Amino acid sequence: MNQFQYSRPAEASVAIKALAKEPNAYFLAGGTNLIDMMKMGLVAPQKLVDINNLPLKTVSEIPVGLRIGALTSNSNMAEHPLIKQKYPLLSLAINAGASPQLRNMATLGGNMMQRTRCPYFFDLTMPCNKRVPGSGCGALAGYNRMHAIFGASDQCIAVNPSDMNVALAALDATVHISGPKGSRTMKFVDFHRLPGDHPELDNNLKKGELITAVDLPEARFSKNVHYVKIRDRASYAFALVSAAVALDIENNTIKEARLAMGGVAHKPWRLTSAETFLKGKPVSEDNFKKAAQIAMEGAKAYQYNQFKLKMAPNAILQGLKIASGLASA
Ligand code: SF4
Repeated sequence: MNQFQYSRPAEASVAIKALAKEPNAYFLAGGTNLIDMMKMGLVAPQKLVDINNLPLKTVSEIPVGLRIGALTSNSNMAEHPLIKQKYPLLSLAINAGASPQLRNMATLGGNMMQRTRCPYFFDLTMPCNKRVPGSGCGALAGYNRMHAIFGASDQCIAVNPSDMNVALAALDATVHISGPKGSRTMKFVDFHRLPGDHPELDNNLKKGELITAVDLPEARFSKNVHYVKIRDRASYAFALVSAAVALDIENNTIKEARLAMGGVAHKPWRLTSAETFLKGKPVSEDNFKKAAQIAMEGAKAYQYNQFKLKMAPNAILQGLKIASGLASA
């Protein structure tokens, strides 16, 4: 068994200092991903800094929207009255993910940090540039059914597994970060990375930085929203493809659209060209079909995930029809 140090500070500044002292240290929140990876031998920390005592569990209104503490559990987020009422897309996406037990433990910050579910990443006998940089990618010529169709590189074709992240990307969230060099904010859409030449990096956090909160802007999408998740079985499975849709509709005209996809890229995949197309257009199946087509520009499939090229636009179309009321869920 790997021996490691453990501490449980009550202040963020102390937690950040504790992590900075040990190069091979991890923050521990809900543990639903990190503990699994420790058990499987994917990571062997010298130190765990348990952050569960930090005061980061509140959901509160701010002048420009809502602030969600990074340690808020996925269950508490999904069921929070303000989130259900003002940001129902986020509730739908979270409840489409994992199981109730996992959602009780998993936190906002931990969900943002969860690693890919590429089976080659978890198989220590296979090459994986994300696990061991420079070792190769087992998925490229392997069974790549679950893998990316957007933004992949010849180093890695993995996808981000989170449902919550897809909704937060669509809703223009902002991330609050604290670290050894102070605090900063980052747009949620810039938080996760494409693999490029460094697939070992999932996101743009710098070493030792801690996610402290996520802000949602003033609620504009409280009515016409939907989250489509297509998966191999009805519960507790990662998305083959998912689509988060939020529409602001007035007199049958789309004032604004927010669209993002999951299960298709190394990061939640925002569909800005399709959003721009829909702005100012009347609600119609024809326009939704065109938007779904636009959203697929640049898609590239691998040997076993060709089906995603059809499944993805269908998911977008279904999401748009249900969100707008053209179809029922
Ligand atoms: Fe590793 Fe990425 Fe290749 Fe999967 S797709 S084996 S995570 S490098």
